[in-house]
Amino acid sequence: MVFEVSPFTLLSNDGKLSIPMDEPTIKQRQKVEVQPEGVIMEERTTLIKDNKVKRVTKRRLYTWDEIPEWQRDNEHIIRGYVMETKSLRDCIIALTYWHNESINIYTHLIPACFFLLTMLFNEYLLTHFRTTGLIDIIMIDLFLLGGFTCLMMSSTFHCLKCHSIEVATFGNKLDYLGIVALIVSSMVSILYYGFFDNLPYFLTFSSLTISFGIACATVSLSDRFRTREWRPYRAMLFVAFGLSALIPIIAGAFRYGVKETWVRIQVKWVIFEGVFYILGAFLYGVRFPERVAPGKFDIWGHSHQLFHVLVVVAACCHFRALLGAYALVHKRIVL
Ligand SMILES: [Zn+2]
Repeated sequence: MVFEVSPFTLLSNDGKLSIPMDEPTIKQRQKVEVQPEGVIMEERTTLIKDNKVKRVTKRRLYTWDEIPEWQRDNEHIIRGYVMETKSLRDCIIALTYWHNESINIYTHLIPACFFLLTMLFNEYLLTHFRTTGLIDIIMIDLFLLGGFTCLMMSSTFHCLKCHSIEVATFGNKLDYLGIVALIVSSMVSILYYGFFDNLPYFLTFSSLTISFGIACATVSLSDRFRTREWRPYRAMLFVAFGLSALIPIIAGAFRYGVKETWVRIQVKWVIFEGVFYILGAFLYGVRFPERVAPGKFDIWGHSHQLFHVLVVVAACCHFRALLGAYALVHKRIVL
């Protein structure tokens, strides 16, 4: 779909539209103004040949009514939209001012950096036991890599989604693939420690997880399931994927007893993790709190931001579970 209205207004010194665009630039100046009604205006003034001035005034933020149809997703968020940029540079510049995707970008970009640093330096951060080996580093790195992939794909998507419908569509698919990567890497890594002495159990449940992951990835990449109508069902499928973590816990309880499984899989932390994921997905699905006060949570505090924060909290709970399970295995081997 082509959006006809240009957000740019070209004015000369005396307010007339007469300066050619291809004149060589001599000097540039940029000014940002906040209008009385709260609309942020960005003015770029360029001094060009023969002391002529080209002034470009652009509104930075737009309302739900002004953005093109393809950018509309949540009608309870009224203001703070970055209009379709068609420019990678303008998407990057949008990182420097607040708009309704800013918190979505940074709530995943900053933790992604921490995940990456932890992965690079886990040799020094991890408690080392006499029996700690390469496989431990691989399993812990697997989870950290899954977390980094998820958070980085998500923040990149939120940064570039104002570019164009094509970029937003592709980025959204990568965003879902990132979630799949996080769930698969989380489950396989903890299963390794939970069933460290039972290879058939580890392989069975890991295969189940990977199969579920492939199914979810396929649904995420298929255009048919990407419409707004399918959003609650997509979210439910991902929740079901997360809930499939219960299967190895139940199987473990039958095989080893509840008490032993509780410590092997660090079930306390896995439960916290599940609660945070489900709460995040629920808020995202029902669009709370912006649903009860449309326009009040445009920049800060809307459901997608809460979802992002809860995903990070849940991932931290999983990391705690993983470290606990890792320590338990090695303490037992040493004893
Ligand atoms: Zn997101």
